[in-house]
Amino acid sequence: MLKEYYKLSRLAMEKIDREHALVVVPLGSVEQHGNQAPLGTDTMIADETVTRTMDKLKALAEAGGTELKGDILFFPTIPVGYSVEHRSFCGSVTFRPETYYNVLYDICAGLGGHSFKNIVLLICHGGNRATAEIVSRQIRRDLGVKVFLVATGAFGSPRVKATITPGNEKDFHGGEMETAMVMAIDAGLVDLETSEAGHHAYSHPGGRLGFGGSVALPWMGEDFITEDGKPIGIGGDPSGATAEKGEIILDESANEVMAALIEISQIVGKE
Ligand SMILES: [Zn+2]
Repeated sequence: MLKEYYKLSRLAMEKIDREHALVVVPLGSVEQHGNQAPLGTDTMIADETVTRTMDKLKALAEAGGTELKGDILFFPTIPVGYSVEHRSFCGSVTFRPETYYNVLYDICAGLGGHSFKNIVLLICHGGNRATAEIVSRQIRRDLGVKVFLVATGAFGSPRVKATITPGNEKDFHGGEMETAMVMAIDAGLVDLETSEAGHHAYSHPGGRLGFGGSVALPWMGEDFITEDGKPIGIGGDPSGATAEKGEIILDESANEVMAALIEISQIVGKE
């Protein structure tokens, strides 16, 4: 069964087999996504991905093909995240790292206190991952609750990569893919005329420096600059974004989240 967590009454919640259920907590952000896309891009993508994933899981169940071994409850998206890398751009809001750690810890501990044993943090902003990983380990050690991490976007999928305009393969934060997804959700929220492309100031082809890996400098938004050196805070060129491309990326993202939830449900669900 699929449920929206906050729509259940206390009595309905008491009847849930919480030990074998999964609670999915989507993690959004309020941060700049270039000139052209809204501050709530990640949170909008989170909500849309949840809606589409629920629809797909329901359709699968109606077709008799469901493989879920327990209920899945979707918690409301946490709209603010850890976005310190964007703070110098207007409108971005971030939790401090210790605040965000405590927010995620308290939500997981609250769920654990009601006998939920399995939680999925659905990561819809890359900057949230580091804190989510620490919380996952600490909650498991402290409370024995498994906190799985699942990321949206499906950015490695060939179907998603095929949407990228040739020459824009390094598309990243606030670029073509994210802008396209917002256009598929609500085209009126994007103004492509204002968009400017950005690239990373320090990394160069064949170089060792990356964002992770063996030689890394965790990035700040101002590391991404335009051709004439102006900090722009996005990676890639949003100008090729279309709602049609966004539709493909959102669909593929929901496919991957659905597959992940089915797999996790089979691991933690009732035999
Ligand atoms: Zn984003």
